[in-house]
Amino acid sequence: MRFDVLTIFPKMIGFYCAESIIKRAIERGLIEVEVTNIRDFSQDRHLTVDDYPFGGGPGMVMKIEPLYNALSHVQSRQKHTVLLSPEGAVFNQAKAYELSQKKDGVVLICGRYEGVDERINGLVDEEISIGDFILTGGELPVLVIIDAVARLLPGVLGDVRSSQEESFSSGLLDYPHFTRPAEFMGERVPEVLMSGNHKEITKWRRRQSLMRTMIKRPDLIDEARLTEEDYKILEQLKEEV
Ligand code: SAM
Repeated sequence: MRFDVLTIFPKMIGFYCAESIIKRAIERGLIEVEVTNIRDFSQDRHLTVDDYPFGGGPGMVMKIEPLYNALSHVQSRQKHTVLLSPEGAVFNQAKAYELSQKKDGVVLICGRYEGVDERINGLVDEEISIGDFILTGGELPVLVIIDAVARLLPGVLGDVRSSQEESFSSGLLDYPHFTRPAEFMGERVPEVLMSGNHKEITKWRRRQSLMRTMIKRPDLIDEARLTEEDYKILEQLKEEV
């Protein structure tokens, strides 16, 4: 899958993609991250990408022409184009999955300054936010998206179960994880995890996922894919907790 990133700070993207799982995914040809410097598409001699806002007010606005030129350079008809914006729908695991299905790739546009000239809206398919807070630019949000989407693609993670079993994949939070030592500062790893009984381990983990979600994120329960057995466990848990 190909990610085209439009930014005025290409090094910020390259830096993150040069490490760990994303780096390996690129080396193995599972993903491509192509970074385009919007400034290269400015047509004035100072390579300007921002200008004062019409109507006055603080800060600068990202100009539309360099962006349009950069987009025309990378965009083919099939490519899904996303503007990172605090006004967009808030990114989540379902959106990560949806983007991971865009076989022709996605174009991700990083805004800067006070934002992008409003006329960008006619050039993008959707706006995505990574939460209700304001960052200085779209580069971190783009990296969040690339990371979350890449790990859903076949072969990117060593064990495909990692992305299938983790938080939000089934609509629930993940179960607790432990590694050696079996005891740390008086706290022992639950016996069932060391029992070798995989049926019991699976049951314990499901119960833990349900319990954590019920306590920490009860809002997720209504949307989660639950079985009859899950509902029974939830009833028991409500009495116990
Ligand atoms: N004036 C804008 C507002 O009040 O909504 C904020 C602009 S912000 C300083 C500059 C750029 O950072 C935005 O155009 C967007 O690309 C990016 N950005 C900031 N916060 C973001 C968020 N929560 N999610 C996605 N992108 C964000």
